Amino acid sequence: MKIWLLFFCGLLAGSALAREVETVLMVSIDALHPAALSEQASPTLHRLMRSGRYTLQGQSVTPPQTLIAHTAMLTGLAPAQSGKQDNDWKPGLPQVARETLLDVAKQRGFQTAYFYAKPKLGYLISAAVDEHALARDDGIDRARAFFRQPGRRFVFLHISGLEDAGADSGWLSAGYLDELTYIDRTLAPLLGDVAQRGRYLVVVTSDHAGHERQHGTSHLEDFKLPLIMAADQTLPALAPGVFRITDVKRLVQSLLGAGPAEH
Ligand SMILES: [Zn+2]
Repeated sequence: MKIWLLFFCGLLAGSALAREVETVLMVSIDALHPAALSEQASPTLHRLMRSGRYTLQGQSVTPPQTLIAHTAMLTGLAPAQSGKQDNDWKPGLPQVARETLLDVAKQRGFQTAYFYAKPKLGYLISAAVDEHALARDDGIDRARAFFRQPGRRFVFLHISGLEDAGADSGWLSAGYLDELTYIDRTLAPLLGDVAQRGRYLVVVTSDHAGHERQHGTSHLEDFKLPLIMAADQTLPALAPGVFRITDVKRLVQSLLGAGPAEH
């Protein structure tokens, strides 16, 4: 345990990238089961995996539900620490009060955007978010438009669709994989724009998976998620073993050179 901790701290503390990043695209594909990723079903994401670093052993929080998990992803805090233990939010209710990754990006001089496909994710909009929209169908277009403007830019993009495909036809079913293929294809032009901007970091992950036609339960499959990183420079290796969704913030923070104090 001690050795593992040392390795983990070493990785995160010492892993700022050699060249400063100017363009960050974080994509959360809601309800993406890591076992769905393949060259056939998701050729665009497969290329990212091949060129970058990835793990298929990501773990969500308990319970593995959309808003609770995204709060853990962006604050780096487990539900008991962040205080976000229910899966609901409506406009007019208080929003996140803990530091999120978008706050960190803003502190690092990025213009920030947050596009989300489900109203409840409006909970995670903080004062550090320069542009935000409930974008059920046009999040990718909005992200592309945001990246067309100059300067350091950070986009968090939430994409939905797989949770409905899973509920309708089952996780990892043909219908579910078709939906993933569609999402994968629509992401390609955005990833092309990001690569053209240069000095980029792309992170693709998810909030949870599911099993049969259910998700959000204590079934082991429901906790699974992937994490993929790609950049136009060498990325540090991920520590072997389980990757927790609460580690996403620390990881991205450290790649941006804004990591926690050295250990
Ligand atoms: Zn979800």
